[in-house]
Amino acid sequence: MPSVFSHAIAAVALGGVAVGGPSRVRIWMLGALCAVAPDLDVVSFLFGIRYGDMLGHRGLSHSIFFAVVLATVVTIFARHTWPESPGAAKLWPFFFVATASHGLLDSMTNGGLGVAFFAPFSNNRYFLPWRPILVSPIAIHVFLGYYRGIRVMWSELGWIWLPGALVFLVGLALRRRRS
Ligand SMILES: [Zn+2]
Repeated sequence: MPSVFSHAIAAVALGGVAVGGPSRVRIWMLGALCAVAPDLDVVSFLFGIRYGDMLGHRGLSHSIFFAVVLATVVTIFARHTWPESPGAAKLWPFFFVATASHGLLDSMTNGGLGVAFFAPFSNNRYFLPWRPILVSPIAIHVFLGYYRGIRVMWSELGWIWLPGALVFLVGLALRRRRS
């Protein structure tokens, strides 16, 4: 995986383009949580589930199916909690893309197993043909502790944070223009 920070940033960047309105920052944060959620599957290691299993790391929780389910639940929650938020037709695609972006970014990393995009229907693991992102160690203390952490950070800055910031700024500029 790219680190959790990078997944969250990718989601907020998308949010800057897709979601405006008075509750936008809360919606972006929720999108960031959606983008991080798939990696909660690392608890599967504690239960002795193997990486390559459907319920293993980068399995079901990284699938398109999971993104559909999570986006639906989170959209219902957001509409219910913040009635002033944009309609479901805007929120659902954002939460879906935020969640699905996780698997997509993982499939662009240079290590680990691929992503089970089509779980639970198939456990085939996929990478994109283009994999520029250095894979990040899973545990955060490892991530912060080693020289490798710096190299991972640098790779993510270039491939995720910088493009993310650009996308976010373009979104802001477009919205300014419209209003
Ligand atoms: Zn992941």
